[in-house]
Amino acid sequence: MRGIGQTRAMARVIVVGAGVIGLSCAVRLLERGHRVDVLARELPLETTSVVAAALWYPFRAYPQDKVAAWSEVGYRELAKLAGVAGSGVRMMVGSELLRVKAADPWWAGAVPGLTRVDTPPEPYVDGWAFTAPVVDMPVYLRWLAERVRELDGTITRLAMAQLPDGADVVVDASGLGARLLADDRSVTPVRGQVLYVEQVGLDQWWLDGSGLTYVVPRAHEIVVGGTEEEGVWNLSPDPAVAARILQRATALVPALAGARVLRQKVGLRPGRPAVRLEEQRVGSTRVVHCYGHGGAGVTLSWGCAADVAALV
Ligand SMILES: Cc1cc2nc3c(=O)[nH]c(=O)nc-3n(C[C@H](O)[C@H](O)[C@H](O)COP(=O)(O)OP(=O)(O)OC[C@H]3O[C@@H](n4cnc5c(N)ncnc54)[C@H](O)[C@@H]3O)c2cc1C
Repeated sequence: MRGIGQTRAMARVIVVGAGVIGLSCAVRLLERGHRVDVLARELPLETTSVVAAALWYPFRAYPQDKVAAWSEVGYRELAKLAGVAGSGVRMMVGSELLRVKAADPWWAGAVPGLTRVDTPPEPYVDGWAFTAPVVDMPVYLRWLAERVRELDGTITRLAMAQLPDGADVVVDASGLGARLLADDRSVTPVRGQVLYVEQVGLDQWWLDGSGLTYVVPRAHEIVVGGTEEEGVWNLSPDPAVAARILQRATALVPALAGARVLRQKVGLRPGRPAVRLEEQRVGSTRVVHCYGHGGAGVTLSWGCAADVAALV
């Protein structure tokens, strides 16, 4: 309830998209007192977002300066959520290993306590160790959706051929769907294939950027990836690709040898030369676009949601 003297105008907002971006925007807008309805063709557990590994890491999202700033907010907010029971977020130590010597990463400022790996195992020659948020996406998306409802927002399945009217503001968080809804052909799929294997006692994440290999443990399973295939729309896991992923992952983390594969998935990252976060007037409707987060939607979600809420 707003107190006397509080004059901020409250808007009726429709958020298009129920992935991590749409739901995070909805939560921030509801917290500011707006009325928010989320409309989406795929509900949270059917989106690309549910396939994310999901490690805090600014991967394949641009431009660097904005991504670094959004990532910093993301780190802070996800770290806070790690203290909230049932959110699915944990803080976990891990290492990125490199096959060539490198300068400090451009996103180093977003991470407290980043250190160089002193003696990386062969064939690696360099690397970083740091504690990062790791997000169990099915749990987290359920938690976010519940938070939307708790704050009196709604989430409704609706496939649209164009952005809706009838609201003060429409937030376009349609990810790859912006190709149609914003008529934006610069958004393209970057196919990612992952396997989920049984937990074999890992409590640390690992990343090798060359060839994109990552191992991200959750409470009861381990996410093993991955691939980055530009312009590929195929959503079916490829068994030959899965075998190669597992081979690379086992070379990185030998403890995975013989781990039982539980299931496999493919997600299409919404790749774009730059994240689109800006306001546009479409007819009589104010639209705030927020899409094109590539391989870092989880990492950038709270930073972008704060900027969207400020624009609305
Ligand atoms: C294998 C893999 C691993 C990843 N790992 C990580 C990671 O470790 N860390 C990280 O930060 N990120 C990771 N990502 C990236 C992350 O998943 C994406 O950046 C993020 O999911 C994008 O979120 P989004 O909400 O924009 O899109 P989506 O999750 O795709 O949601 C889009 C929403 O818009 C709706 N929509 C679209 N078109 C329409 C329409 N016409 N009508 C109605 N609704 C529509 C959809 O139904 C959906 O609800 C990974 C991705 C993949 C595939």
